[in-house]
Amino acid sequence: MPDEVYKELCQTMTKRGGRYPGRDIPEFYALVEVLFTPEEAAFSNAMPRGFFTAAQLAEALGRDEASTEAFLESMADKWLCVAGEMGGTRFYSSAPFVPGIFEFQFMSGGTSDRDRLLARLIHAYKAAFDAEAGQPRITYPGERVIPVDRKIKAGNKVHTYQQVAAYIEKYDPISVATCFCRHEAELIDPEDTCGKPNDVCMQFGMAAQFAIDRKLGRRVGKEEANEILKRAEEAGLVHCTLNEQEITFLCNCCADHCMILKTALAQPKPGLILQSGFRPEFDADLCTACETCVDNCPGSALTMGEDDLPAADWDRCFGCGVCATLCPAEAVTMGERPGIDDVPADRKELKARIKASRA
Ligand code: SF4
Ligand code: SF4
Repeated sequence: MPDEVYKELCQTMTKRGGRYPGRDIPEFYALVEVLFTPEEAAFSNAMPRGFFTAAQLAEALGRDEASTEAFLESMADKWLCVAGEMGGTRFYSSAPFVPGIFEFQFMSGGTSDRDRLLARLIHAYKAAFDAEAGQPRITYPGERVIPVDRKIKAGNKVHTYQQVAAYIEKYDPISVATCFCRHEAELIDPEDTCGKPNDVCMQFGMAAQFAIDRKLGRRVGKEEANEILKRAEEAGLVHCTLNEQEITFLCNCCADHCMILKTALAQPKPGLILQSGFRPEFDADLCTACETCVDNCPGSALTMGEDDLPAADWDRCFGCGVCATLCPAEAVTMGERPGIDDVPADRKELKARIKASRA
């Protein structure tokens, strides 16, 4: 029988939501008993929603502030909560499993026995959760793709939030960390690799500061950040982030391992719930029918048409621009895709649109 504190943690994680909330199954307890000590679980259960200070949590727990702060810092070092500084005030915040605690565990790229054990336990929990709950039904895009800037056709109206380069220019600090999806897979089975680079996932602003402070990632300058993006693009990876205009992270995803793409691809029309707002246009005069784009499309959206020109299934195309990057004949450019909503201004607007789409 799991301890009472872990049962309460199951309810806590259920309330926190996210892609994998708490679920009262054996795999949940097998995992959290490794992730959290009983005292860490009790702290997590007591954390309020949103940002809070050590003094606020100390009061809720009936403890002194100094020891509460020290304990919160140790939890942030284990990536069980978030810590930061705002306007000279030290603050903390709880985190759901996804996005949050699960990803944090693998972002540093660790390969210890504990990392391997956690990879197996997290994978087992996600598999058991999906087997019981099924794939989520997505009615509005919670994430989005950012197209490969350099391949957008001249003359298109391009918003700054559709350009990765604009984010790199704007944010400071920027950090780079290990792709938690590909790394988790490799920790479980070293043979389970797609050969794509792992050290390409980026964080911005406060999220980058947390990653740097807690050794999840390392700080990079703008020049290196651009080089990393170029490397990710050349490997055929897809830039993914939350569907809001200001971003805190940019994952460079593959379809074999990454949660965002795999979740989208499990939907009946992946190209409608994960989108950049662009679509490829193929130049019949330049195309040599080599099929590189067909073979590398992460959405499996392309086939060769009867006229020896690639044809896209728009229900599957994300508008990522991988086909344009990898085309050896420079025969693909990205044009605007009509009928796609503007990116929500912020998390509040995104939540409102998701709610309205469910109704
Ligand atoms: S056709 Fe495939 S590679 Fe090209 S933009 Fe669409 S999803 Fe990306
Ligand atoms: S990769 Fe380029 S040249 Fe090859 S089939 Fe696709 S569009 Fe044509």
